Amino acid sequence: MKKVAIVACGAYMDSGYGCAGEWRCLKAAALGDGQYEEPSHVVGFVKCECPGRTFLPNLGMTMQLSGIKPDVIHLSTCLASAKPECPYTNAEEMAKMIHTKTGIPVVQGTHEYHVTFD
Ligand code: SF4
Repeated sequence: MKKVAIVACGAYMDSGYGCAGEWRCLKAAALGDGQYEEPSHVVGFVKCECPGRTFLPNLGMTMQLSGIKPDVIHLSTCLASAKPECPYTNAEEMAKMIHTKTGIPVVQGTHEYHVTFD
């Protein structure tokens, strides 16, 4: 089973009705749904906070304190597919920063559990 860490958009988590980071990314990881290749252990969950200056050191601290190096790091769907887009950075740039710093592969997105308006 793969070990994964997640970086999610705090601006969405703080105001997105129905998800404060407590279920969609985690359910998809548990089931191997969405952008996870297989059921996965979540070993870290980092909340980005505007303007995005702290997510990278906080991710590093998460890995250091847990003593577990993830196999893969996912940018949450609310971050990778944000509409409107993040005004400070973008998911491609964040993925590049994470990969450069850690050497760990980065996947864009976590789940596909979208709210419908039927
Ligand atoms: S900087 Fe961008 S990705 Fe990070 S919390 Fe703010 S809006 Fe979300």
